[in-house]
This record gives sequence, structure tokens and C-alpha cells, in this order.
Amino acid sequence: MTRDTSVFTPDSALQRLLTGRKLLDAEVCRKVTREELNAHIDAGFVQVSPAFERNAAGKRICGRCGNEEARLFGSYPCAHCGKECPYCRACIMMGRVSECAQFVGWIPESVYQPRTVLLAWEGTLTAAQAQAARKLAAQVERLASGAGGGEFLVWAVCGAGKTEMLFQAVREALASGFPVMIATPRTDVVLELAPRFAAAFPDTVTAALYGGADERFPQAELVICTTHQAMRYRRHFPVCIIDEVDAFPFSADEKLTHAVSEAATADALTVYVTATPPRDMQQAAASGRLPHIRIPRRYHGHDLPVPTLCWAGDWHKRLRARGRVPPPLLRWLRTQLAAGRPVFLFLPRVALLDDAAAALVRALAADLPSPDAFDHVHAADPGRTDKVARFRSGAIRLLLTTTILERGVTVPGVQVAVLGAEDAIFTESALVQIAGRAGRNPADPAGDVIFFHHGRTAEMACAVRHIKAMNAETVEMNTHLD
Ligand SMILES: [Zn+2]
Ligand SMILES: [Zn+2]
Repeated sequence: MTRDTSVFTPDSALQRLLTGRKLLDAEVCRKVTREELNAHIDAGFVQVSPAFERNAAGKRICGRCGNEEARLFGSYPCAHCGKECPYCRACIMMGRVSECAQFVGWIPESVYQPRTVLLAWEGTLTAAQAQAARKLAAQVERLASGAGGGEFLVWAVCGAGKTEMLFQAVREALASGFPVMIATPRTDVVLELAPRFAAAFPDTVTAALYGGADERFPQAELVICTTHQAMRYRRHFPVCIIDEVDAFPFSADEKLTHAVSEAATADALTVYVTATPPRDMQQAAASGRLPHIRIPRRYHGHDLPVPTLCWAGDWHKRLRARGRVPPPLLRWLRTQLAAGRPVFLFLPRVALLDDAAAALVRALAADLPSPDAFDHVHAADPGRTDKVARFRSGAIRLLLTTTILERGVTVPGVQVAVLGAEDAIFTESALVQIAGRAGRNPADPAGDVIFFHHGRTAEMACAVRHIKAMNAETVEMNTHLD
């Protein structure tokens, strides 16, 4: 890239306007002249790329979302090019990308500016956490020295204190002037992480991007976003941290994988953080192809609670036909509520929530401090954010939910139960994650986890074995830096 900063001073207003990946549309053209834009392109500060590209077979690929399925392209009479112009339907919710359009974006490498970064977090790391944090920071230093990034896996149990382990590496990256992206498949996790990072890095511009957030193209140094929102960027982040890499829908959706890899610069460092890596990643780590660090212990050094399995009979029929929940579940819930412990109760399907909620309200009216202390929530629930916040604050004591909240939500002292653990939706990975919700408070590490079922499954047995194995291990390091 030819760039001579001694004779060309980039325009900071233009930089703000063009941070991220923008369509070169009328709005942009109103704010910048073609001459200005060309001067910045020639000087290596701005890149322009076509809306669609062609793959080796000549098939059209959307430059934003990576869609290449012909049925997901429509066409319309375009006022801009005057033709019947193809557009991408797969990412239409982010605005229409049509064939005659172009993307324009600031090239972030052009303005990496080393600076002093304030890290205001004052907690202490355990020995295992500190070691992981150092290894990760070393990867960033390596990147900053020009040695390239590559992939790195942080394989840490739920409750190992993953966020705190990332702080040092994030500071290292920001200090080199690198913008950092932390992407996760779930909005809940964005909402939980964003305030923690904002508090830890008070002099860093951070942005939380998720569906429904109103920030548009923020020129943030630290972006915490859903994997969907990564589409807003192109070749922008030299450091990408992907949290809960195995979580649905991320692993299932190639479009999102594409979005994340597009948002990264060509030689970026990509860090995967997860408690339950997908099998191919586990194999790559075991064979040494994927540098990684494994942290089986939780940050307070206590074991993960091992789930208890409890036979609940044909709970489904009982619920549907008689509007009742199984007696063992009811007894367990009463014990927890009497002890003042918050409870997460997971069900396999949204369709069961209303029936189960009605049955529980009837049965537990006398055990709940108030009717507001009980609620239920699912993925498409418009009140979801608010309910999760009330559960965290302790206003809700018993929260009935589907798997959407299984990851990333931290509630001190919470007890966890699954009703219908035999359902196919509860894979080993999902059950391990659910169990990991419990016992996250160092003052009260002995969280109770109980799987109520109508028939023991292999996945349930694997989840129990997985947790026992994690508890039995000591900290193992394997970084294969060369
Ligand atoms: Zn698209
Ligand atoms: Zn057109």
C-alpha cells in the first residue's frame, strides 16, 4: 500500500463518516466530494469494493453477508443504474445492497495510533487466570510486532472468569492502536459484557452493537457485538475475540462465520473463547494445530456442581392433561425458594412455557414472596432484556426459560433445574452450559443442578462425565507458539 503521510493529512470528519463498511450512497456523496474521496483512496486511507463478487464458479456472492444462494437474490427496477438490478435478500434487514452499489470504508491500518490505555479493573486473577491472560497478551504482542495473528483457543469452564482473562490482551491491543471486536452469538451476552468492558476501559470508546440497538456506525475502538452485527465492518479488526464459538446459531450459520472473518483484517488474531469447543476444534487443539490454553477450574477454585438426575415420570402428559408439574420438581423448588435462592428452570420448548407457568403459579403461590417474583421468558419475548435484568437484581426469584438464556448470564447464587432433560435439544454441550449457570458466586459455590427427566439419555450421561472430568483436571497449558 502506498501511503505518504508527510504530504497528505487525512480528514478526521471523513474518517468518522466512513468507519466500518458503508454503502457509497447518496448520503455519503452529500457529505464528501468525489475529489476528496479519490484523494483519500489514492493516499491509502479509504477502500472501495464492489457490492457483489463472483466465486470461482461465477456465482454471485454478496460482499456484505457472503450469501451465494441464487434464490436469496431478488431484482428490482433500480433508479440508480436504470436497469433491473439484482439485490441481496439475505441481509436486506441491514439496508438493500444491489449489484450496482459499492462499499466504502476507512482502512483502519492507516491510522493505528499507539497510546496509553487505562485499565481500571482492580480485581485479582487466580494463578490459572493470570497465566491464561499472559499467554493471550503474548499473542497480541506477537501480532503487534508484525509476526501475524492466526487462531487461538481459550478453553475455559463456565465460571472460570473468562472476561477478566481477556482484559490484559484487550489493553495490549488497544495500546497498539488496534480496534478490537468481541463478538458473541447472543444479545444477552452483549448486554452483559458491554458494561463490564466499558467500566474496565474508561478512556476507550466502546460500542455495543446488537439488533435493536440504535448506534449506527460508531467509530469505536472496542466493539462488543452480536455476530450478525459484524457485517457492519470489513477488514477492520486486527484482534477478534469470538465468545461462545459453539453456540447456536453461530456454528450452524455460515453467513455469520463469513461476517466475522470479513470483519477481521487479513492477518488478524482470532481468539475463540468457549467452555465447550466443537469437536473439530477440540481435535485441532489436541493435535497441536490450534494453539490453545485450557482452564478447567473456575475462578474461585471450587468444583463445578455435578448435576443430579431425577426421574420425573411422564411430566409432559401430566402437564398437558392435568396442568400439574411433577412432585419431585415441586419439592425441590420449594426447598430452594424457602432458602431464598434464585432459581433458573429450563424447559425444552417455548410452547410449554405458558402451561408450565400456570401450573407453577398455582402450586407455588404460597412459596413466592410476591406474584412478581415469578416470570417466564423466551427468545422472541419483547420483555426479555427487562426480565433478565430483574432476575439479576433479585426481583424475580424463579425464572422459567428456554435455552436462549443458557449462556453468559450470571446470577449470583442461582440454582438450576431442567424439566425434560431427555429432550433432543439438550445436547451434552447445552447441558454443560446450563449446569455452568450454577454456583458462580465465590461466597456460595455449591450451586445445585438437577435434571428432571423421563428417561435418561446418553447426552445427560456425557454431560455429567464431562463436568466430572473438568473437576478432576488440573490446569493444563498447551500453547504451541511456534
Ligand atoms: Zn447480503
Ligand atoms: Zn442498480
